[in-house]
Amino acid sequence: MCWEGTFKINELKTEVTNHLAMLEKRFELEGLKVVEIEKCKSDIKKMREEMASRNNRTTCPCKYSFLDNNRKLMPQRDVPAYPKYMLSQETIDALRKPTFDVWLWEPNEMLSCLEHMYHDLGLVKDFNINPITLKRWLLCIHDNYRDNPFHNFRHCFCVTQMMYCMISLCFLQEKFSQMDILVLMTAAICHDLDHPGYNNTYQINARTELAIRYNDISPLENHHCAVAFQIISQPECNIFSNVTTEDFKKIRQGIITLILATDMARHAEILDSFKEKMENFDYTNEEHMIYLKMILIKCCDISNEVRPMEVAEPWVDCLLEEYFMQSDREKSEGLPVAPFMDRDKVTKPTAQIGFIKFVLIPMFETVTKLFPMVEELMLQPLWESKNRYEELKKIDDAKKKAIYEEN
Ligand code: 5GP
Ligand code: MN
Repeated sequence: MCWEGTFKINELKTEVTNHLAMLEKRFELEGLKVVEIEKCKSDIKKMREEMASRNNRTTCPCKYSFLDNNRKLMPQRDVPAYPKYMLSQETIDALRKPTFDVWLWEPNEMLSCLEHMYHDLGLVKDFNINPITLKRWLLCIHDNYRDNPFHNFRHCFCVTQMMYCMISLCFLQEKFSQMDILVLMTAAICHDLDHPGYNNTYQINARTELAIRYNDISPLENHHCAVAFQIISQPECNIFSNVTTEDFKKIRQGIITLILATDMARHAEILDSFKEKMENFDYTNEEHMIYLKMILIKCCDISNEVRPMEVAEPWVDCLLEEYFMQSDREKSEGLPVAPFMDRDKVTKPTAQIGFIKFVLIPMFETVTKLFPMVEELMLQPLWESKNRYEELKKIDDAKKKAIYEEN
């Protein structure tokens, strides 16, 4: 073969090789493009699904719903098909007492306890509640409490468990109708639903959506109650689906009255009216009974200090954490700050002494007149806690004095 021929073949070889390399490159790029196209398709599909689910959420039957998007009126999971959380007899017995350690339990265990209470009080039977609806309703209640330091699902559990204690210890089923018992328990479970962690004063001063919606009138309590009935309006969660229209009206009115009564701004007004009724208390007088129910939910709502010191004390830390979160925000937003929420002014003993002395003891003393067993079971621990915090305050004051004198 001549030199020229060899050259041409080499040239052709190079050309073919280059062409092949180019084709390979194109193939690789096209291949990548195919992968990219597939990824885009899958992303679009995901985005479509997300948009569809968001649309579903906004078509919830509640016109005023402003639960944020990842918060649902339907529980985020369904009830398990098998009995996962069985309560021991020991737990069931302990549940009726204020000494119950509320810190030992996971949410699912607290849900089982609440479910047990509805069965044990005869509410499931008397109001023909579908047991699966009860489970689903409770899951939904849990999902609609936020993870605040204080106003969270464990606080809901505490208030309801204390209501169950009072029903049992004061033999309230002998005094109240089963409808009243249903109202007391359900109002306790729902009473702080979707609490945002900032109180009414903040809502009003910051002119939040809630304050605007409710014209500064108990914005939080109105909201807790509205969320409670948004949940009930879901057929899958409606524990009242088998009661008559007339009974539903009474239950609804009862729950609204009790949840609205938990606004501490109304404390003096409600306690004074109750004291008036107490001058001549009549269990057959409807008005008297409404006030008694309001006082009962109020007692349970603020009953942490009735519990043993080891159980009660961590709640004060939780409350102060939530208070400080609010006061820090108020400072940064230039809003008024309440001294009892100010981290520079409040301590655990100062927070508790006044509250136990001027709010808790007077209210529980009034209740003791109707139910004498309250003295030993609830007033006694309050007196002990007050004494303990007074001792702690003395130590704090002595330390402060020593530091002051050193300087
Ligand atoms: P809630 O907001 O839980 O419905 O209403 C009860 C309010 O009473 C709480 O927000 C809190 O301000 C007050 N409170 C409840 N328990 C305690 C307590 O142990 N100590 C003090 N200082 N305040 C309490
Ligand atoms: Mn509460």
